[in-house]
Amino acid sequence: MQRKVSAVAAGVGHVVPVSIVAGGGGILIDADGNSLIDLGSGIAVTGIGNSAPAVVEAVTHQVQQFTHACFTVTPYDGYVAVAEKLNSITPGDHEKRTALFNTGSEAVENAIKIARSFTGKHAVVVFDHAFHGRTNLTMSMTAKSMPYKDGFGPFAPDIYRVPTSYPFRDGLTGEEAARYSLLQIDKQVGASNLAAIVIEPIQGEGGFIEPAPGFLPALQDWATANGVVFILDEVQTGFSRTGDLFASNHETLVPDIITTGKGIAGGLPLAAVTGRAEIMDSPQPGGLGGTYAGNPIACAAALATIETYEKHNLAVRARQIGAVIDEVFFELANSDDRIGDVRGRGAMKAVEVVLPGSGDPDPSLTASVARFAADHGVVVLTCGTYGSVIRFLPPLTISDELLRDGLRVVVDGFRAHAPTTHVKENRP
Ligand SMILES: *Cc1c(COP(=O)(O)O)cnc(C)c1O
Repeated sequence: MQRKVSAVAAGVGHVVPVSIVAGGGGILIDADGNSLIDLGSGIAVTGIGNSAPAVVEAVTHQVQQFTHACFTVTPYDGYVAVAEKLNSITPGDHEKRTALFNTGSEAVENAIKIARSFTGKHAVVVFDHAFHGRTNLTMSMTAKSMPYKDGFGPFAPDIYRVPTSYPFRDGLTGEEAARYSLLQIDKQVGASNLAAIVIEPIQGEGGFIEPAPGFLPALQDWATANGVVFILDEVQTGFSRTGDLFASNHETLVPDIITTGKGIAGGLPLAAVTGRAEIMDSPQPGGLGGTYAGNPIACAAALATIETYEKHNLAVRARQIGAVIDEVFFELANSDDRIGDVRGRGAMKAVEVVLPGSGDPDPSLTASVARFAADHGVVVLTCGTYGSVIRFLPPLTISDELLRDGLRVVVDGFRAHAPTTHVKENRP
């Protein structure tokens, strides 16, 4: 860690101060030989497990054929096969096209380029608590200032932020929240200026906020009726994580464009924009791409990864994992009023930590519990605009036993930081 501090820019932070040398089966091994239970999957990336055998095999084969050609110079089959696969498995049976990129930020940024090209309009609507990445455009779309934006302006213009649906804190139905958000969009931007609405179907970094039922369909209907491209950012929610192949399947949403990344390629850097053919085909040839975008090794990994989600029915497994997490934390919530909310779907679950009484966020206890978990060999991530959410993103291949072991440590973390209660002495 001293070498890290001396060699790596301070802005590149870390959650757990360990050096990983191996991983697999829901376990990370550090340089001291410690085993850590992985409840984060490198932020929802290794959904099929670390160094999954199918990925190792596909990557090994591809690396021996060729490592790079640049698809925009001399195309190759793997890229096309990934595009075909995404066109067939993403929501909606309309004709689709896909473009591949390296990171989720790049995918979101290109989705905006495509929507602007297609509509000839510039404005983009995003939501409170949104996270869309760290490039200038996507950082501008991200809500939280510290640490993502602080000191990094000026930001991209024509980004408008409106309220989202946050049932735990706003108490509104999906319809009510949508009516309010759409009123803001109409009054502050206007459909005639608006290229796209971009939203995460369950917000990730913002706190695993699941909008009330009806909120997303209302936004989609309004966008469709008003010539606005409806973009779902499924970079974190995609690929079986939420108990469906995509979170949009839950309310049978059919976005005009869907962005994917993270869990797509078993840990290799790949991301995608998939959408309606007429929208995706709008930018001129040469307008989209990148030196490494759709790298052949990453494409080989993606094909093996997506096949693994399907073959092993990992969406069903995600629901089972979610049920175990619910069981553990609903039970804790019964006796511990610092657990304000247990929410999320499938293996994308979170606990919002609050100050009893006021219900205000408690980022200090949240950080203490996460640190306790790390000190006791469990990698668990926090999130949320107020830093008050503990999130669970275990690999979908984790065993129930390992999962329960890991969750027990988190529960112990709450108990270890129990408020000092003054129990009445029972004197006669
Ligand atoms: C992580 C994330 C991104 C950014 O992806 P990177 O690969 O880190 O650039 C974008 N959108 C959502 C919803 C994410 O969770």
